[in-house]
Amino acid sequence: MPDPLLTVDALRKFFKIKRGFPNPVTMTVRAVDNVSFHLKLGEAFGLVGESGCGKTTVGRCILRLVEPDKGRVQLSGEDVANADRARLRLLRRRMQIIFQDPYSSLNPRRTVGQTLSEPIKVHKIAPRSEIRERVVALLQEVGLSAESMDKFPHEFSGGQRQRIGVARALVFEPDLIIADEPVSALDVSIQSQILILLSKLQQKHHLSYLFISHDLAVVRYFCQRVAVMYLGRIVEQGSVDEIFDDPLHPYTYVLREASPIPDPALRKAAVKLEGEVASAVNPPSGCYFHPRCQRCMDICRQEYPTWTTITEERGVACHLVNP
Ligand code: SF4
Repeated sequence: MPDPLLTVDALRKFFKIKRGFPNPVTMTVRAVDNVSFHLKLGEAFGLVGESGCGKTTVGRCILRLVEPDKGRVQLSGEDVANADRARLRLLRRRMQIIFQDPYSSLNPRRTVGQTLSEPIKVHKIAPRSEIRERVVALLQEVGLSAESMDKFPHEFSGGQRQRIGVARALVFEPDLIIADEPVSALDVSIQSQILILLSKLQQKHHLSYLFISHDLAVVRYFCQRVAVMYLGRIVEQGSVDEIFDDPLHPYTYVLREASPIPDPALRKAAVKLEGEVASAVNPPSGCYFHPRCQRCMDICRQEYPTWTTITEERGVACHLVNP
């Protein structure tokens, strides 16, 4: 196997929070716990799970927007987790992020031209005389006109604003884009346009994506491999075909069955994912999924299942697979 572009190994991030009044008690939120995966050059790797499962924190730890407690993050073999500030600045140019809500990540008082030209100026990516040309090329690359330069974020639709977010991510010609729920705030028709744009950019620039989403249908369309997260841990990982055609973990199975099917002819009785995600402050004993699992056994209440490697790309943490 060629060296991966990104390696995440045993990543951990716990947050301390205070709860209670008038005598607050400090509690630990186990947001990301022992998460490992790798991402190959040019591939789209999905990280899926319900809200609060820790997938966004994984993305932020990779970029060190939040500092991980433990674990290794490497970009092309270079240590991101321990890089000093100067080195981290350079590494971050190779790793960019697209946010779920482009509106809140764009400065409402700056025109799109100002937003896109500033990093080009600050990081001396192009001579001053070429900045305008560079910004126009970026806008055109994401399907916006040159006139967009002089407009403010509120003058655009949600889909157009996400295109601006993509253009901003492309300024540094990155190798990796962390796309954090990039289409979940958009209408379905606009979602597909943005996904098509991201796919085209992937082909053209040989980009890799870490695609963070709660929507399995979108991940199925967009990604080549996927990891399923539950309460801060990866519970199953494999190629998209393996995960969708033959899910081994009951949580993956229920997520798949609960995801909407656009064709009414293929629609089947909806499977409900019963119960709430347990608290990351006080996870259940044994397998974290056991209070919601229809196939729970005695051992599941007592022991967290160990990771079973099935093939080089595929693994699962479930007592059904490794009793
Ligand atoms: Fe269900 Fe047990 Fe597997 Fe957990 S380990 S998913 S409770 S069968």
